[in-house]
Amino acid sequence: MFEALAEKLQNAFAKLRGNQKLTEADVDAALREVRMALLEADVNFKVVKNFIARVKERAMGENILEGLQPAHMVIKFVHEEMIATLSGTDAEGKPLTEAIPLAMASKPPTVLMLCGLQGAGKTTLAGKLAAHLKKLGRQPLLAACDLQRPAAVKQLEVVGGQVKVPVFSQTTGKTPVQVATEAVEFAKQNRLDVVILDTAGRLHVDEALMEELQAIQAQTQPDEILLVLDAMTGQDAVNVATQFNDALSVGGFVLTKVDGDARGGAAISVRAVVGKPIKLVGIGEKMDALEVFHPERMASRILGMGDVLTLIEKAEAAVDEKQAAEMEKKLRGGKFDFEDFLSMQQQMKRLGPLEQLFKLLPGVGTQLKDVDWSVPEKEMAKVEAIIRSMTAKERRSPELINGSRRKRIATGAGVSVQEINQLLNQFEQMRRMMRAMSSGKGMPGMPPMPG
Ligand code: GDP
Repeated sequence: MFEALAEKLQNAFAKLRGNQKLTEADVDAALREVRMALLEADVNFKVVKNFIARVKERAMGENILEGLQPAHMVIKFVHEEMIATLSGTDAEGKPLTEAIPLAMASKPPTVLMLCGLQGAGKTTLAGKLAAHLKKLGRQPLLAACDLQRPAAVKQLEVVGGQVKVPVFSQTTGKTPVQVATEAVEFAKQNRLDVVILDTAGRLHVDEALMEELQAIQAQTQPDEILLVLDAMTGQDAVNVATQFNDALSVGGFVLTKVDGDARGGAAISVRAVVGKPIKLVGIGEKMDALEVFHPERMASRILGMGDVLTLIEKAEAAVDEKQAAEMEKKLRGGKFDFEDFLSMQQQMKRLGPLEQLFKLLPGVGTQLKDVDWSVPEKEMAKVEAIIRSMTAKERRSPELINGSRRKRIATGAGVSVQEINQLLNQFEQMRRMMRAMSSGKGMPGMPPMPG
């Protein structure tokens, strides 16, 4: 994400490298490039002007720290000022539970109202939030208040089905305000403690839309109104945000499609122009592709410095420590089998798509942009299919797998016998390598994936 901006900024900083002293001319030259990069990323003009002025003031006013190159100093200032621009005093950086004020509603149900233009990602977000809340032990209800698009109710029902959350919908003769009100009533009666209102959008902000939303707000008194903004729309997002914010008591933004945003302008401008926090970011179409917005991480991503923090956090959440310790013991002794292998692969999968993982690594994001990620994903899927076609006994004792068993497994997995041979050879090599390593001093980590 934000590859284009990251690349330009890195070029700007590259010109500063090697210089031992920071002259005003150096700073000006670098900041000119930073300015261009930000404008090209569709960051609001006033925001850019302000930003550059602050960085320059600091760059000229502070001495270069010992051990740092001038370029690093400027990157440091740019980074810090970007964090300042992206963050505010509110809820940013808190866990997802706190990013939305669920604890606040003293009388359940908590009402969350989602609004935004058509296609911004409201319905998808409704599903993501419902899934997340359910995981936290909440009983959410999705309410289909978008009666503009005929397919919208159906779409929410599909999403509700995916995340196994009930959907309240009334299509015949009701107004959106009535549906919203009845949904809240329904939740009360059925002990559902969060109501997520999926409202209508238009292609452009218009009066009728705003009046409808204002009526829903007045009637249901939401605990939180989240404005959903498509990150790909750049500065347009700022205009949309301003108009919604003027009409409704918006509590914060959700920036969607950050996974596809090549420019990053919306993220930087919205906060500064509208003065409300970005609370959550959507990073994909799947129901778990939702993250809390962290200004410092977003700043690192925009600057192309990677996001080691997020990576570590994801890894920690996914890999159960006890399991990992057991696995390590097995690995060390070269005793692991295909069952272990499968569970390892499952853990890796829980970390998310490979592409997203790699993009979080510093310096890797920009280099790997042309890689076809479907290839390693397919390889992993193939290996999984093969192992799943083995019997439990075969998984535990791969040496049992003779010629006829290989044929059977190949047929089961839809691959050739050669591919089975290949996997078995690699597996055996891996085991041998592990044994060799553990008899020496080397501490093996995860073995390489065969295939
Ligand atoms: P709505 O009209 O505001 O309800 O928007 P939808 O929820 O129908 O989303 C419009 C399109 O954007 C759909 O194709 C979604 O799958 C897609 N979408 C939503 N959120 C994200 C996201 O975070 N990343 C990506 N890549 N696509 C998203």
